[in-house]
Amino acid sequence: MSTAPSPTGDGLAAYRMWIGGQWREAASGARFESTDPFTGLPWASVPDAAAEDVDQAVRAAEQAQYGAWGKTNGFERARLMHRLADLLEREAADLAATETRDNGKLLREMLGQLEYLPAWLRYFAGVADKLQGEVIPSDRPNFMVYTRHEPVGVVGAIVPWNSPLMLLMWKLAPLLAAGCTLVVKPSEHTPVSALEFARLVDEAGFPPGVFNVVTGQSADVGQALVEHPGVRHVAFTGSPGVGVKVAQSAAAHFARVTLELGGKSAQLVFPDADLEAVANGVIAGIFAATGQTCVAGSRLVVHREVHDALLSRVRARTERIVLGDPTSEDTEMGPLSNPAQFKTVSGFVERAVAEGAGILTGGCPDHGLGGLFYRPTVLTGVTPDMEVAREEIFGPVLSVLTFDTEEEAVDMANSTEYGLGAGVWTGDVRRAHRVAHSLRAGNVWVNSYRVVAPNVPFGGTGASGWGRESGIDAVREYTVTKAVWIELSGATRDPFTLG
Ligand code: NAD
Repeated sequence: MSTAPSPTGDGLAAYRMWIGGQWREAASGARFESTDPFTGLPWASVPDAAAEDVDQAVRAAEQAQYGAWGKTNGFERARLMHRLADLLEREAADLAATETRDNGKLLREMLGQLEYLPAWLRYFAGVADKLQGEVIPSDRPNFMVYTRHEPVGVVGAIVPWNSPLMLLMWKLAPLLAAGCTLVVKPSEHTPVSALEFARLVDEAGFPPGVFNVVTGQSADVGQALVEHPGVRHVAFTGSPGVGVKVAQSAAAHFARVTLELGGKSAQLVFPDADLEAVANGVIAGIFAATGQTCVAGSRLVVHREVHDALLSRVRARTERIVLGDPTSEDTEMGPLSNPAQFKTVSGFVERAVAEGAGILTGGCPDHGLGGLFYRPTVLTGVTPDMEVAREEIFGPVLSVLTFDTEEEAVDMANSTEYGLGAGVWTGDVRRAHRVAHSLRAGNVWVNSYRVVAPNVPFGGTGASGWGRESGIDAVREYTVTKAVWIELSGATRDPFTLG
């Protein structure tokens, strides 16, 4: 079976879907195109699936789940996961180039991500053979009780366009360790890298049906996956609005759900912080990845005493950010990922100005570079009630708020429905812990920002979602605990009493 994309008559690379260990077209034969956000031109075409294709993929996953894969032990799963990690290392550069072509993010950022991804497979491979239950001392002498952590079953995943393979891996590595199978629907904006990755899963030797990719343009495809009765757990990364619908659809057939829904994360800056370090951390937090990350530090909550000194540093560095071709070594910020995102960002800035925010720098598209480039933007004089202080923008826009007391800073940081990330910048170790403990956020970085690792749980509270990815907690999301009671005495007992 050929795995390489074939050029179509129109010069596009034509990919097929990966279902049940086979490359397949959509049942309807329909296809759609994927566009390079930098050139604005389509570069690849993929099958445009519908509910019928989703059904085939879920059935293939069920066959593997309740067949060969379901019978593997943790050692065997770990061996395959290490092989996949080796292959990922071999292909990191090519996969990074595919990601950049599909989502417009910097090649060096995508390369950094791809080179780190094998660590997730290796960490969770180490967990696969240690998923032991426990013997629970019974309160009755005639019973032995133990637990097993069994795979939840077929997982349906919907992954976004901002970091397609990384956010896929955050689901795949723990669910493989747990012994589950996966049907993933990549974003309609970035459908290609999951298909390239499928080739490696096959080469690593995973049985057919363990990993399946369905590409589709319409929201109906994601919905068909989430609603499918064969899907026992739904893992979703995207917006809160769709997250709620996903959770409702999953609940209708009692599938479990993890949701990673982004945030409105605050970076709190106290007067005793190292302002040079803060300026870099603030820039990294909001302008890296063109602000298109779930943990973007999109609110700067700064003490009045250091407001001006910090903002002059932030402004100077922001105005030196090099926008351009994401594949160039010198580029620091690429385009927004798609036209809808560009419109969203422009709209937020226009409404912020109408609400009374000031523009310290940016606030407009970069027409010199064409289509989807938006200048890195800093909005000042923002108050907690403004839209740009509450809503996720998912673009290069920083909203600056000012505080006078620690209590006020914490209240401001906690004043949105989200609760994903927060940064605390201070030289006072007691304040660092005190504030970190008071913040309603799943991840707090002190004198740093936006660091992740395979062994550290990641996730949010409130509108930022449910559950954890990475760390031991992530495997628990994909297992069900079973209690087994063994009667030891063999005595005939009274049928109308327990025990
Ligand atoms: P979205 O939440 O609108 O859609 C995510 C995916 O869900 C898409 O592939 C879509 O086809 C699918 N979908 C839509 N309706 C569905 C339904 N009823 N059931 C099942 N699947 C459904 O995200 P988007 O369009 O990619 O981006 C929109 C916004 O989402 C962004 O502006 C940003 O704020 C946020 N976002 C967050 C993250 C994150 O990391 N948390 C990532 C990407 C986007």
